[in-house]
Amino acid sequence: MIDIKSMNEAEIASLMAEIGEPKFRAGQIFKWLSDGARSFDDMTNLSKSLREKLSTMCELRNAEMIRKQASKVDGTIKYLWRFPDGNCVESVFMEYKHGNTICISTQAGCRMGCKFCASTLAGLKRNLTPGEMLDQVIAAQRDTGKRVSNIVLMGTGEPLDNYDNVITFLKLAGDDKGLNIGMRHISLSTCGICDKIKMLAEENMQITLSISLHAPDNETRSKIMPINNRFPVEELIKTCKYYFSKTSRRISFEYTMIDGVSDTEECARKLATLLKGFPCHVNLIPLNPVSERDLKTSSKKAIERFVEILSKSGLTVTVRRSLGSDIDAACGQLRRKVENGDK
Ligand code: SAH
Repeated sequence: MIDIKSMNEAEIASLMAEIGEPKFRAGQIFKWLSDGARSFDDMTNLSKSLREKLSTMCELRNAEMIRKQASKVDGTIKYLWRFPDGNCVESVFMEYKHGNTICISTQAGCRMGCKFCASTLAGLKRNLTPGEMLDQVIAAQRDTGKRVSNIVLMGTGEPLDNYDNVITFLKLAGDDKGLNIGMRHISLSTCGICDKIKMLAEENMQITLSISLHAPDNETRSKIMPINNRFPVEELIKTCKYYFSKTSRRISFEYTMIDGVSDTEECARKLATLLKGFPCHVNLIPLNPVSERDLKTSSKKAIERFVEILSKSGLTVTVRRSLGSDIDAACGQLRRKVENGDK
């Protein structure tokens, strides 16, 4: 079956040519898909025979909403979607002053094994297709009736472990006949797969790259992030500098504050030395404790001290505001609950 939601207009046009349909049908179909059509029967300006032909040849892989939790505190909405093969993924819709933002998943599960993260506990089920990533945005827009203007690839999964599909997704999301989301409004977060970061640099897209750094030295980082054994800190930073030299885009470093592991003054000083003089942004994330793991979040005092040390050394640093804390909005927690049979 053809995954038509993962195709751009030109690809749909080739498909039309193959089945002897006029080219302009491609534009109509592409628009229907971006507007959130759920079946070929919704596409009322296509002939009945074409609709029938499409439904025998193509699949739509719709994200079906099976859970929705809306925060009473800040309007954040967490969705759990199910795809036709039964795999579930989460997205989070957030309203910020600078626009509505959706955090989407790029894989069902994850094989990166980070010790603080709930998404990786049951391993990787499969990669999502570009259309399945797009559908998380489209389905959330349909449900809220609000336009999404920013996308962050920070849900379940490692985007660079699903490289080709993610690149196709970014191009589809940016298509001016589709969702038309500017690349500067998209952030991609990675645990640090250096060879793929280099490939991404060559694409020279204007997206924001976020690096999940979480520790300033190999000893600490390898303890919490297995990827560090493949791509150690020095190589990661070197790759980030290469990325910046190619794209001129300032990198954002995510740094989870874990009590007694990554939040010490020594860590702050090492981090300041590591990033000294590099045009970047450090975003501290107070750990969201995962019940299966024995890690605790940092004290307010430790976070304040950390911020102080980094700022004094000239780094731009922010502490992530936690949205949706009343609705398990963090990091794969809803998906796990439902998969483990908690209805
Ligand atoms: N695989 C990608 C994107 C998904 S994780 C990556 O590693 O960047 C999105 C962000 O949430 C990452 O920075 C990740 O390290 C962080 N994160 C995961 N679990 C967390 C937790 N329990 N508390 C706080 N941040 C967490």
